[in-house]
Amino acid sequence: MKLILLGAAGSGKGTQGSMISEKYQIPNISTGDLFRKNIKEQTPIGKKAEGYINSGKLVPDEVVLKMLSERLEEADCKNGFILDGFPRNRSQAEALGKLTSIDRVISISLSEEVLIGRITGRRLCERCGNNSHLDWLNGKTICPKCGGKMVQRKDDADEEAVRSRLRTYEDSVKPLIGFYKQKGILSEVSGEKGKEDLFKQISRVLENEH
Ligand code: ADP
Ligand code: ZN
Repeated sequence: MKLILLGAAGSGKGTQGSMISEKYQIPNISTGDLFRKNIKEQTPIGKKAEGYINSGKLVPDEVVLKMLSERLEEADCKNGFILDGFPRNRSQAEALGKLTSIDRVISISLSEEVLIGRITGRRLCERCGNNSHLDWLNGKTICPKCGGKMVQRKDDADEEAVRSRLRTYEDSVKPLIGFYKQKGILSEVSGEKGKEDLFKQISRVLENEH
């Protein structure tokens, strides 16, 4: 099963991606996570991407594409994968179509007001990348999975970067909904009711895929 999760920043793509990954035993590939790892290690890709990411702008297509195509060649992608945060515009979608064929695209919708609350409350484990939210952490600042420190992403702490990412979603990600609808592989779900409800909706969609 080759799956794409579409949704704005804060829509819960990452959380759902990990849940689907666990249930179906296919890797969740988050281009944002891959970039953050590259930045931490200060690789050439990380150095190229850092400025764009911190200001909430898209990293140039050629940089993303190189990183993603290499990732898709790894052995764990043989039985499928989940893409979280890719494609983010029409040219990335077309490039992906040349690399592989996608079975299903799930678009998660959410009001902007809720998105902003999700983004500002989001915390990430410095050590294992576990994604969480102040509402789920009950005042704790350590990761419930590995004990690492929970921190806020730079681009989540910066109001202008948050606004820029939401604008990018409206301008370049949203048009992909129509692009995949036309191909007959789009399913739309609502993220409004929280992660368990969303996972139920997504599981229902995926049951029909098998
Ligand atoms: P969010 O969904 O909260 O915006 P991500 O972790 O998915 O967070 O992405 C963080 C940043 O990484 C983006 O704002 C962008 O700068 C960069 N990025 C991730 N995926 C892509 C992509 N497919 N194309 C261009 N830039 C990307
Ligand atoms: Zn952790």
